[in-house]
Amino acid sequence: MTALALQRIVKQVAELPVPPHLLDYDKTCADFSWDSARRWLDGLPENGGLNIAYEAVDRHLLRGCGDKTAIRWLGKTGARRELSFADLAQATNRFANALKTLGVQPGERVFVLMGRLPELYVALLGALKARCVVTPLFSAFGPEPIATRAEMGDARVLVTTPDLYRRKIHGLRARLTGLQHVIAVGDETVEGPGVHGWNALVDSCSPEYTIGPTDPESMSLLHFTSGTTGRPKGAMHVHAAVLAHAVTGRYALDLHDEDVFWCTADPGWVTGTSYGIIAPLVNGVTNVVVEAEFDAQTWYGVLERERVSVWYTAPTAIRMMMRLGVDALRGYNMPALRFMSSVGEPLNPEAVVWGLQAFGLPFHDNWWQTETGGIMISNFAALDIMPGSMGKPLPGITAAIVRRTANNSLELVTDPAIEGELALKVPWPSMMRGYLHEDERYKKCFVQGWYLTGDLARRDGEGYYWFVGRADDVIKSSGHLIGPFEVESALMEHPAVAEAGVIGIPDAMAGEVVKAFVAVKPGFEANEALRRELLGHARKRLGAAVAPKDIEFRANLPKTRSGKIMRRLLKARALGLPEGDLSTLESDERPIADGAHP
Ligand code: AMP
Repeated sequence: MTALALQRIVKQVAELPVPPHLLDYDKTCADFSWDSARRWLDGLPENGGLNIAYEAVDRHLLRGCGDKTAIRWLGKTGARRELSFADLAQATNRFANALKTLGVQPGERVFVLMGRLPELYVALLGALKARCVVTPLFSAFGPEPIATRAEMGDARVLVTTPDLYRRKIHGLRARLTGLQHVIAVGDETVEGPGVHGWNALVDSCSPEYTIGPTDPESMSLLHFTSGTTGRPKGAMHVHAAVLAHAVTGRYALDLHDEDVFWCTADPGWVTGTSYGIIAPLVNGVTNVVVEAEFDAQTWYGVLERERVSVWYTAPTAIRMMMRLGVDALRGYNMPALRFMSSVGEPLNPEAVVWGLQAFGLPFHDNWWQTETGGIMISNFAALDIMPGSMGKPLPGITAAIVRRTANNSLELVTDPAIEGELALKVPWPSMMRGYLHEDERYKKCFVQGWYLTGDLARRDGEGYYWFVGRADDVIKSSGHLIGPFEVESALMEHPAVAEAGVIGIPDAMAGEVVKAFVAVKPGFEANEALRRELLGHARKRLGAAVAPKDIEFRANLPKTRSGKIMRRLLKARALGLPEGDLSTLESDERPIADGAHP
């Protein structure tokens, strides 16, 4: 037996507490078609079309499930709120009516910036009912990432809290000329142009609303993701994506009617929207929302008390729990928990196995991206797990490992020992329909009918996919993609910075942390005080989740002939790795003091 076979986690389907929806992987894949899966959804009864919010909320009322809890919200300070599907239908209707009162038209952009409050969920689904395009932003973003995205995405309406408005938005109002309305959640009054209080505006609206005809191909969500160069990319998604959310919720997360589901991701990132809102609601299960940030004891308490049965989390959190050891779980009893899943970054084989020690269940890794809109590759409840592998493609998804040839065509890689770029055959319903205002960038993702993911992977003889790395310089920190360019740009705004190069440094907890190399302008001294000032500046501009954790000074940075900073080289040197091909290196970096490279 090979080492791999020794690690294999064999599944005995008969021993699983609930028979998985996907029992026979090969047969389901062979029989599956997106057209026939469309029958799982209802479509708009009044005037036709497919609307995410209708499928997620209203249709459950017609099935007699109006009283079932749709969202169970657990506040930071112990508050608790249950919203049934009927409550959620009414609340989202009120919000859709509020947008109408403000004169907001279908297709216009509604941005949401707040922590995980019930209003976030109501606003997002209500805006989808109004056929607006929604962009949820991560509340920990600093003003700069917020402004960039709101400008690019043409934000007309922003839903936020009074505190976030004062701290992050107020100072941006002159810059955000297209922002006409701000809806501030809560009782506090906020002064500002076009600022409305949620209570006065939304609560006074009618709880009746008829969703207008919704073309399945009309834009629903605009999710920003980070690229290596340039501004963030606005991945445009459409209402038809809800079919992929229904299918992946059923097959990859194995959601059953009686489940209590908890996705720990924030809706500011795509996982928190596709799986923290849409997929569980479309599948009619109770969706737990926890406002508090990660804390192992809080999380274990939620799993136990709320009788969570399906849990979707991320490697960084799992590693933090592992650090505390299984002893931290002593005294907790989680008999309802039956399926655990993880996404966002590589899940170490040890973490998969640790799940067995700590919870009596393995973690099921799965893979997808902002662009794909939903889970594409997954470990399934009924299939053996190869710890360290992302699993197999979903029914309806064809994946492959490819290499680009010199004439920009593709070569399929079939040798399991050879890595290549992970590619997915288009189309599928939740695939992005474009990058906002960047058609060329979008077109470059496709070759010969395949979408190229930018990830390197291998496919073994049994069809399991293994993540190898990113093909570009994008940084993955605590599951969040960070574009080096955005961080470099914020640093460059500081008067002392002449050049900045940003890379990801491996980190046991976060996967990677952001590190910046900075060359200062003449007249500035590269000392500890400036280093601290720059760290503070970046934190203020970008927010803690995106800002560098460390800065090192250089006299100048390595650059190519075309003047591009060679991040690859900075990284190789920082990690003591081979420097690789230096043929494009035009001017090399110099340390602050004369001498050899540090
Ligand atoms: P995002 O668009 O922010 O969701 O990030 C997508 C990227 O996260 C992918 O292209 C991968 O690089 C990484 N990623 C997501 N899931 C996994 C996984 N299960 N294993 C390894 N990397 C992952």
